[in-house]
Amino acid sequence: LTETNAKPIWHPMAHPAEMRANPPKIIMKGQGVTVTDIDGRSVLDAVGGLWNVNLGYSCDPIKKAIADQLSALPYYSGFRGTSTGPSIELAYELSEWFEPEGMVRTFFTSGGSDSVETALRLARQYWKIRGQGDRTKFLALKKGYHGTHFGGASVNGNANFRRNYEPLLPGVFHIPAPWTFRNPFDETDPARLAKLCAKALEDEIAFQGGDTIAAFIMEPVLGAGGVIVPHEIFMPLVREICDHHEILLIADEVVTGFGRAGAWSGSRLSGVKPDFMTIAKAITSGYFPLGATLIGGKVAEVFEADKTSFGSIGHGYTYSGHPVGCAAGLAALAETKRLRLDENAAARGIELAAVLEGLKARHAIVGDVRYKGLMAALELVSDRATKKPADKKTMAVVSEAAYEAGVMLRVSGNNIILSPPLIISAADVVKIGEALDAGLSKV
Ligand code: PMP
Repeated sequence: LTETNAKPIWHPMAHPAEMRANPPKIIMKGQGVTVTDIDGRSVLDAVGGLWNVNLGYSCDPIKKAIADQLSALPYYSGFRGTSTGPSIELAYELSEWFEPEGMVRTFFTSGGSDSVETALRLARQYWKIRGQGDRTKFLALKKGYHGTHFGGASVNGNANFRRNYEPLLPGVFHIPAPWTFRNPFDETDPARLAKLCAKALEDEIAFQGGDTIAAFIMEPVLGAGGVIVPHEIFMPLVREICDHHEILLIADEVVTGFGRAGAWSGSRLSGVKPDFMTIAKAITSGYFPLGATLIGGKVAEVFEADKTSFGSIGHGYTYSGHPVGCAAGLAALAETKRLRLDENAAARGIELAAVLEGLKARHAIVGDVRYKGLMAALELVSDRATKKPADKKTMAVVSEAAYEAGVMLRVSGNNIILSPPLIISAADVVKIGEALDAGLSKV
């Protein structure tokens, strides 16, 4: 199985030769917050699948909902002529869930990249309906991650996800992220940095001309870019600037949706109402691929009042509103709410933060630690003064040692990323800390 797996699968974000030299861990089973590999070794999954398995691996209500829906109706399309029960119910549930963010409509997709693509398309379509078809540009944050489609790749703020596919969408511009550890302003105070980045956004809008910009997209807490946590004044400042220039605001909540950052959404952390929210991942806790683009009241009104053909959403996915996915989503959200996972993420997040600060104090290789709820990163450096990133080999030694100590970590560049299931206990947090300590002690 090891050899077969390493060859025919072309692994995402990895060179085939790297996979041959360093075969992937083959995961065979999952129970609670633990996964077991092909050699029978069980480890605590501090990656939570890929930011998504919030409820762990043995959530019986989701499994039952999937089995029941498979028996009743495994698939029917959610295209214009037909719909299914679970998709209608889930759309109601989502409007209720994200009512504080002002979301009133749900467009179902098959995952996060689809959700971003849809939001970008709808933003342009919105301006065409309003007779301002020149508003085609998008603004985004450097270090932001918005998926793999051409639209998402275009707004991604990391060269690695862009340069091999260029030319991408024209008219996309990036401003610095409010990242205290590395930023062009050499500013370490989070509030002052938030204002400087907001000013950079203002400047870019002035330079481009506000009436040429369709939307600004951001993750309320940046995930894949290395868990960059903007100060709580940043997103409200962005909202204010967007309002002033009538630019739509897309909150990419694919990671932050459903409690991961310690609130039901990242936007809610600072009381912002975006115009679109993109969600996926934890909507089914990873049990079924599903995503959605949520549409705020102002945008929905314009589409609904439109008398031209522009008003119809001109694209859709075969699996838009997949009944099994939506049944999984309904069960996952019911469990998420019943267990108040937002509160557990916030409480365990505070404990995790203390653990990470302790590791930073003990290990010189830890240049920076960043966290919000149960999303966290340790940025490893070979030299704290120069902030030179730790090399690939060092990162591998740390993560392998942590695995030996019973915890699965994720390495992304010179960051160790933590996004454990939101059901973790205080004892699990201690275990993650001990495994990290063991790993860091090896280098
Ligand atoms: N947006 C963000 C913020 C993400 O983190 C991701 C995936 N990590 C995506 C979009 C893309 O989602 P998917 O992988 O489900 O297509």
